[in-house]
Amino acid sequence: MECPNKHGLMALKTMVKEADFRGKRVKYRAQHFVCPECSIEADDLNLAAANQKALSDGYRSAVKLLTGGQIVEGRKRLNWSQEDLAKAANVGIASIKRWETGQIQTKAMDDVLRNALYGKTTCADPYTGNRPLSLPRIKLVLGRFSSLLGRKMLKSPTDKLLYAAKYLWYGDMIAFRETGQGMTGATYAALPHGPQLNNYRDLVPLIKDADETEAEPLSEHEKRILASIAKTFPGDQKIYGAAHKERAYTEKKHGELIRYTDADSITAL
Ligand SMILES: [Zn+2]
Repeated sequence: MECPNKHGLMALKTMVKEADFRGKRVKYRAQHFVCPECSIEADDLNLAAANQKALSDGYRSAVKLLTGGQIVEGRKRLNWSQEDLAKAANVGIASIKRWETGQIQTKAMDDVLRNALYGKTTCADPYTGNRPLSLPRIKLVLGRFSSLLGRKMLKSPTDKLLYAAKYLWYGDMIAFRETGQGMTGATYAALPHGPQLNNYRDLVPLIKDADETEAEPLSEHEKRILASIAKTFPGDQKIYGAAHKERAYTEKKHGELIRYTDADSITAL
């Protein structure tokens, strides 16, 4: 693209922008052509559409609606075409196309989409995050954290998971908050040392012996959640401290189970 001030070709640049959108301050990644000479920014039609979509996704993420990307991912996870999702959600395929490319769905339609893509909107068992307990998946998630953090998460069959349990807990909670389903099906209790796997003493040797290749592989979305947790909490003390400050933990009596629906009150991520 040529600079309108006649400085010749402009360069394509990616930048993080902030905008006020529907009363929210939204951060998003934008791409513009920028003139190296006069710094003027311009978009062609494709860029304008992509930037609009990025802003829409930033907004939807900020107000906890499914983003276009999450709708696509949820659909792919089920091997569904746009038409399959349209049928399951009882809407026109044109609506699915618009939501995936940037139009913002209402809260009511968001519930319908979540229901179609992720099963129940309300949790049947509030303590397992809409998933049966999977020891192989716990091991898989711990293994992922081990490679992200560069240290072993599960050391011995008598490991008390003092810190590893916090990483698991954030993973399950954030996954539930963003997708309506936890990662491992684990149940957590508020113990004096923070959120902990319920019955961890019995579970640890079983997790140690579990075969992670039997687990359902992590989705791209789940991998991103784990990466952002590892990035936020590079050290054990940091996650230990943060978990102790979450209302989902502080408002419980010792030994009380933590509901997955409490994930909405998580503030560290
Ligand atoms: Zn210029």
